[in-house]
Amino acid sequence: MNKPLILVVEDDAAVRNLITTTLETNQYRFQAAPTGEAAIMEAISHNPDVILLDLGLPDMDGIEIIRKVRTWSKTPIIVISARSEDTDKIDALDAGADDYLTKPFSVEELLARLRVTFRRLYDSGGDHAQSSVFVNGDLKIDFAAGCVYMNDRELHLTPIEYKLLCLLAKNTGKVLTHTYITKEVWGSAWDNDVASLRVFMATLRKKIEEDPSNPKYIQTHVGVGYRMLKV
Ligand code: CA
Repeated sequence: MNKPLILVVEDDAAVRNLITTTLETNQYRFQAAPTGEAAIMEAISHNPDVILLDLGLPDMDGIEIIRKVRTWSKTPIIVISARSEDTDKIDALDAGADDYLTKPFSVEELLARLRVTFRRLYDSGGDHAQSSVFVNGDLKIDFAAGCVYMNDRELHLTPIEYKLLCLLAKNTGKVLTHTYITKEVWGSAWDNDVASLRVFMATLRKKIEEDPSNPKYIQTHVGVGYRMLKV
């Protein structure tokens, strides 16, 4: 019984049933929780592999659940929310969520997000997590040497571009918010300057993407942030 266990936190019975039925037919195990309190109990007692979390719950805000769970667990959390406002997504990601889906969502989309999350889990559990070389498709980063290669050809990145690329690479599969990126790259002294970040991202993409207008490695989440995709 090595099927992954997924905790589904959702107060709407119809949506909860849709999700759990989908999980069941796709060989996942699940636990369901209709409230925030039940969610935290289930997370503690069953230690799920992934948590699917609705933000609007009757007893607790989902963002509070993320903060609580993050005090003891790194379990990936995918937020599923009817709130389409960017600020809610950003708050959830900054609180420690890994990804988000906006309702209404398709079952295929949910399954795709789960596959990405599991691939990231297994990848980071492997030997190369500690390795000093990162490989993703034709992109290679040698952290020890501070060199980046595309198709074995060395790329010349500025220090900021290099930091940006390393940050995204080390968090492959995870959506990083503008605030998180600017803090990590420039430190807390840096104003959350999204316009500048966009400029650096554009120059970085010109160097690593074959077609910068249709990027393969770094995905834009409009109004939210960026994510490196596993190619
Ligand atoms: Ca709800």
